[in-house]
Amino acid sequence: MEHWGIVGGGMLGMTLAHRLRQQGRRVTLLEAAPNLGGLASAWSLGDVVWDRHYHVILLSDAYLRGVLAEIGLDGEVRWSETKTGFYVDGSLHSMSNALEFLRFPPLGLVEKLRLAATILWASRIRDWKPLERVPVAEWLERWSGRGTCEKIWLPLLRAKLGDCYTRTSAAFIWATIDRMYAARRTGLKKEMFGYVAGGYARILERFGEALAEAGVAIELESPARGIEPLAGGGLEVRFGKDRRERFDGVVVTLPAPLVPALCPALSDSEAAALRGLEYVGVVCASVLLDAPLTPYYVTNVTDAWVPFTAVIETSALVDPDQLGGRGLVYLPRYASPGDPVFDEPDAALRERFLGALARMHPGFTESRVRAFQVSRARHVFALSTLGYSDTLPPSETSVPGLHVVNSSQIVNGTLNVNETVQLAERAWPRLLGSAGA
Ligand SMILES: Cc1cc2nc3c(=O)[nH]c(=O)nc-3n(C[C@H](O)[C@H](O)[C@H](O)COP(=O)(O)OP(=O)(O)OC[C@H]3O[C@@H](n4cnc5c(N)ncnc54)[C@H](O)[C@@H]3O)c2cc1C
Repeated sequence: MEHWGIVGGGMLGMTLAHRLRQQGRRVTLLEAAPNLGGLASAWSLGDVVWDRHYHVILLSDAYLRGVLAEIGLDGEVRWSETKTGFYVDGSLHSMSNALEFLRFPPLGLVEKLRLAATILWASRIRDWKPLERVPVAEWLERWSGRGTCEKIWLPLLRAKLGDCYTRTSAAFIWATIDRMYAARRTGLKKEMFGYVAGGYARILERFGEALAEAGVAIELESPARGIEPLAGGGLEVRFGKDRRERFDGVVVTLPAPLVPALCPALSDSEAAALRGLEYVGVVCASVLLDAPLTPYYVTNVTDAWVPFTAVIETSALVDPDQLGGRGLVYLPRYASPGDPVFDEPDAALRERFLGALARMHPGFTESRVRAFQVSRARHVFALSTLGYSDTLPPSETSVPGLHVVNSSQIVNGTLNVNETVQLAERAWPRLLGSAGA
């Protein structure tokens, strides 16, 4: 029986393993960490187990919900409507409906109308490809005007992309707006946010069980260390402490810049193309509080002195029983993989982040903090640079049987689990039809 090796046990590798196994292939899933899930994995924070990075499911996440249904969890998604806040010029504003938008003080009426028109216009665009040729700031200024761009768009872009925004195309903002409008496009009346009771820990536990029940061999704490083509055909993967296994086909799901070191048989041009994809990472602090902090699931932050990008409050989304009545707030800071923030010790980040949170929320004191933990991921998503989709290396490599499928191949969407699952759904028929395996 054809044997496939999948390198990386995040949601992408898990979905690929699931599909290849369903198609009657023997499958081994290699994961470096002690548990499955990668960026979507969970951890213990004080007396709570919840996602290491904030995760929400949208009503319109059809691909993800398809997988949840297969593993018996779609019926367990709890849906709710959430509120959005905006922290600008030292004050917090609710921006959860049209009336609040009209009252939003930082923008004049014309600026508001242009902002609304930009979002509406972007949501109607279906041919995103021409947007890849226009720098995002230029496109936003053209449609929203300079004032709105400087007060709202540029701070938001800097927050999500750091200074990399200057190299980012307008396709990035289009994809972000497109996700906001996904529900309406797919015929649903309005978008809802959801989560499975128990968070991603529950999803990953159930998905892992389903894979194991179907016969996928799951190797945890087994980082792949090298992948080499064999003279007689197939590929050998070295993994874990000192193990080797032969596969007919191997799919690597890791961030593109990490692939060449693992696969020395790739051609120089393939290795250069993979290394050349620019990534954005995140330093994400989880703060467990004695009680919820605000009513907002997302608070966008535009003030430059705040060291994090946004405040994401999971306790504004989930039922109180999920967190034992506590508050759970995430403070993410997105940055290039080489940014010094990744080397900043937890204690220093704690001081800076909690200091800023206290300045933003006068009612907040450090005595309310029950736990504070920092997650660092240097490669989260590939930057949507100018002409991005034309620079992407193909998924099938020059090494027979070796494939690279990863989130850099999401060319017209933002990074989320729904896109990740969709990537796997598009890839598996191609993998099975490929030569070499
Ligand atoms: C801060 C943050 C917030 C997010 N919010 C949301 C959200 O609200 N909603 C949503 O849908 N999505 C969200 N996402 C995105 C979501 O997490 C990703 O779409 C998804 O987890 C990507 O899965 P993946 O398998 O492609 O990558 P990863 O999860 O990165 O998986 C790669 C795996 O490979 C493993 N690995 C690395 N090196 C090796 C090796 N040498 N050998 C074997 N294994 C190796 C890693 O340990 C990891 O498990 C968020 C992500 C972040 C970071």
